[in-house]
Amino acid sequence: MGPETIPSPDSADSPDSAARRDQAVRAAVEQGLVGPGLPLAGLLDVAGIRASAAALHAAFDEVTADGTPVLHAFAVKAAPLVPVLRLLGSAGVGAEVASPGELALARAAGTPPSRTVLDSPAKTPAELREALALGIAVNADNAQELDRIDAMVRSAPTRSPLGIRVNPQVGGGAIEALSTATATSKFGVPLRDEGAREWLVRAYVDRPWLTRLHTHSGSQGVPLELMASGVAATYALAEEINARAGRQQVDTLDIGGGLPLNFSSDEQTPTYADYARLLRHEVPGLFDGRYGLVTEFGRSLLGKHGTLLARVEYVKTAGGRGIALTHAGVQVATRTVYMPESWPLRIAAYDAKGRPKSGPGTRQDVAGPACFAGDLLARDRELPPLEQGDYVAVLDTGAYYFAHHYSYNSLVRPGIHGYVADPREAGGAVRFGVVREPQSVAEVVAEAGGGVRDVLDEL
Ligand SMILES: *Cc1c(COP(=O)(O)O)cnc(C)c1O
Repeated sequence: MGPETIPSPDSADSPDSAARRDQAVRAAVEQGLVGPGLPLAGLLDVAGIRASAAALHAAFDEVTADGTPVLHAFAVKAAPLVPVLRLLGSAGVGAEVASPGELALARAAGTPPSRTVLDSPAKTPAELREALALGIAVNADNAQELDRIDAMVRSAPTRSPLGIRVNPQVGGGAIEALSTATATSKFGVPLRDEGAREWLVRAYVDRPWLTRLHTHSGSQGVPLELMASGVAATYALAEEINARAGRQQVDTLDIGGGLPLNFSSDEQTPTYADYARLLRHEVPGLFDGRYGLVTEFGRSLLGKHGTLLARVEYVKTAGGRGIALTHAGVQVATRTVYMPESWPLRIAAYDAKGRPKSGPGTRQDVAGPACFAGDLLARDRELPPLEQGDYVAVLDTGAYYFAHHYSYNSLVRPGIHGYVADPREAGGAVRFGVVREPQSVAEVVAEAGGGVRDVLDEL
């Protein structure tokens, strides 16, 4: 292999990330993070997460004018784990939060208020008051929320940068439930509805403290061009507001997140650089130094760096089809199990010692442990024949998968372990850190009212 083909040590891309993953799977089996008594675990690739954060910074550094303030805020909902938020914080990434729980996680991670953005569509008065007291940026979702903020701003001064979320109504992507910019989306002020544009301009001109404008028009299944057109529509509105105000009142555009993830190989595509360059081409005025920027990427920062590792408990055949019964199913891959066409996941096979299995594939189902027939991670998938005691790795599950437990069948939340692996080291030292302990059955009982056993009987 020539020097130009040697992967850089912290590259997030294949083949490096795949080699690190293989090493981590092997070590997780050897060190007992998974095994007969603990048949499921989530693994997070620390180097991959750092590399994605670095790629995000580099992509926007390339297109913004020198000195432009840029805040990259990680959408906490994609991986609501304090050590992950802390790792991202060390990599210069803040937090976009959308609930009291997410705000508390960001604060527990030490994310400063100046690097935190609050965006939920249904903020209570208490949430708004807390955010304004802390000086966290807030984007109002609608006119009623703006009324509430009005009253709060009048009664107590705040350092919070304030804005309104708009829905540019540019259309949806391939996955209806994840399309935020359709004509009837529940998010933000619908920019193309009758009278909305004029209402927005007046809302800003009447409130000199409204200095930001927010949109989040992308998601899995949304093409980059459509995302960029949502940003372009938001930029055009900012320009109109500033022209009417006669000054640069809107000084920061929050362009949201939504970069789709490639679930079909180890390649990172589209890249942040692809999107940043497209934006600069489509909306050049956004990058000439007059506007600060906020981004809110979630899935694209974490998705490729998570692996769910599950033991194959049994294998059987039914109607001629091979079925591997594993411990990864609807409780950790909810979207894939309920919407398999929209959310297919790659699966890699490992033997009982955690070594990659190769050889000719056969078609088989990979099933989860839950008691309903649809609990399948993959149907009729070609994989090396799975055997009892093997492991399956469910790839690209670092965002919106194993961190988002669904407690069907009272299945315990798996432990989550971060890893640092160096594939160039023979025999490979892998270090793990516990991000989240595996839930115990005793905790399941306690959360299910185990401590108030007689409460209904005694009513
Ligand atoms: C979910 C969400 C994001 C992140 O979306 P990804 O598709 O994970 O990048 C960003 N901003 C807002 C307002 C969101 O709701």
